[in-house]
Amino acid sequence: MTDVVDLRDGWLRPAPLDPVPFHVASIEEDDIAAVVAVLRSGWLTTGPVCRAFEEAFARTLGDGVEALAVNSGTSALHLALEALGVGPGDYVLTPSYTFTATAEVVRYLGAHPLLVDVDERTGNLTPETVEQAYERLPRGVRFRVKALMPVHFAGLPCAMEQLTALADGAGWAVVDDAAHALPAARQGVPIGGGGDATGFSFYATKPLCTGEGGMVVTRRPEIAARMRVMRLHGIDHDAFNRYAEPDQWRYAVVAPGFKYNLTDIAAALGLSQLRRLHALRDRRAAVAATYSAAFAGIDGLDVPPDAPAGDEHAWHLYALRVLDGPRVRNRLVQELARLGIGTSVHFIPLHMQPYYRDTYALEEHECPAATRLHGRELSLPLFPDMTAEQVMRVIEAVPAALARARDSVGV
Ligand SMILES: *Cc1c(COP(=O)(O)O)cnc(C)c1O
Repeated sequence: MTDVVDLRDGWLRPAPLDPVPFHVASIEEDDIAAVVAVLRSGWLTTGPVCRAFEEAFARTLGDGVEALAVNSGTSALHLALEALGVGPGDYVLTPSYTFTATAEVVRYLGAHPLLVDVDERTGNLTPETVEQAYERLPRGVRFRVKALMPVHFAGLPCAMEQLTALADGAGWAVVDDAAHALPAARQGVPIGGGGDATGFSFYATKPLCTGEGGMVVTRRPEIAARMRVMRLHGIDHDAFNRYAEPDQWRYAVVAPGFKYNLTDIAAALGLSQLRRLHALRDRRAAVAATYSAAFAGIDGLDVPPDAPAGDEHAWHLYALRVLDGPRVRNRLVQELARLGIGTSVHFIPLHMQPYYRDTYALEEHECPAATRLHGRELSLPLFPDMTAEQVMRVIEAVPAALARARDSVGV
C-alpha cells in the first residue's frame, strides 16, 4: 500500500483501499455476446431463447421436470400456489425467517401465511417447527391449511424428505422457495426436482442472475398447464387447438391471468450463465470455506453450517453469527462499512415486519429462534469473482471490527 498526501491538510496517509462490495454479478464476454445476439435478432420478448432456457434448466433437475420462465421469483411462487388451488381464506405455512415475497404471494390469493419458526442453526423449517405452528391453529380451521413453503436459507437445503412426508400425510402441497438454492441438492435429489412446485429467482444478486427473472418448475403436468396459461393473461392456446382451429390469430382467454412472462433478452443471460452454474457455485463455496476456516476459532462468532454429507449447498449467502446479539452486530455492520466492507442482514423476520405483525397480531416470542437468529446474522461479501485479496481483506477486517464493536457497546 502506498501512502498519499491528503490535499485537505497536507498529511501523509495510507491510500484508502478499494471497497469490497457485498455483491458483484458475474458477467463474462459470452453472456454479453448472448444478449447482443438477441438484440440483433429482432425478437426481444418471450420466444425461442426462453424455450431453450426452460429446456436446459429443466434438464439440470432431472427427467420429467417442466420449467416455465417468468419475470421474477415472486411470480414463480404466485403461479405455483394459484395452480395448486390456494384461495381466499386458506392457510399456507411459510417460515417467518424469509423475504416478504414468500408470504406476500399467499396474500395475493386472499389466503393467510401461517408464520413458522425455524431451526436456529440452519435458518430452515423443520418438521417440529411446522407441527408446532400447525397445532397453534384453532382446530376448526386446520382443514384450511393447503400448502407448505420451505425456504432453503442461504442455499442450504431443507430436509425435504421429512417435510414432504409430513405434508403428504396432512394433505398439503409443497412449494419450496429456492431463491437461494441453485444449484443445491438434498440426499442426491436436486432442489426443484422433487416437490409439487419450486420457485427460483434470477434477481440481480441471486446465484443465477438475469437482472430480474425467475423459473417455476414442477413434475405435475396439470400444474404446469395451469401455470402456463396464468403466466400470460390466462390465454389458453390449447383451447383452440382442440377444435383444430386453423387461424393463427385466434386465442381464448380462460381466466384473468397475469403478465409474468420473461423476455428473450433476459433468458439469453440466464442460458449463458446456466452453463457455468456449477463453476460459479464452486467459487462461492471456496470463499465460504476460506471464511469458515478463518472465523471458526474466533470468540464471539459462529460460522454457518455446511451441508451434511450427501447434500449440496448453493452458498448463495455467507451468514455469519455474531453471538453478542443485535447491538454488537449492528455496530459491526457500521465498523465494517468504515473499512469499506459491504455487508447485509438476512432477514428481518416477517413476524417483526409491520404488515404481518399488525395484520396477524404477532409478537416477537411467536418465533423465538427466528428473532434470535435475526439479531445475530451478518451476511458477508460472497460472489464468484471475489479476488484472494478481497477475501483476505474481509478476513482481516472482521475480527478487528468485532473488537471495536464490542468495545463501543461495552461487552
Ligand atoms: C429474492 C427472493 C425472493 C424473490 O425473488 P424476486 O425474483 O426478487 O421476486 C423470494 N424469496 C426469497 C427467499 C428471496 O431471497
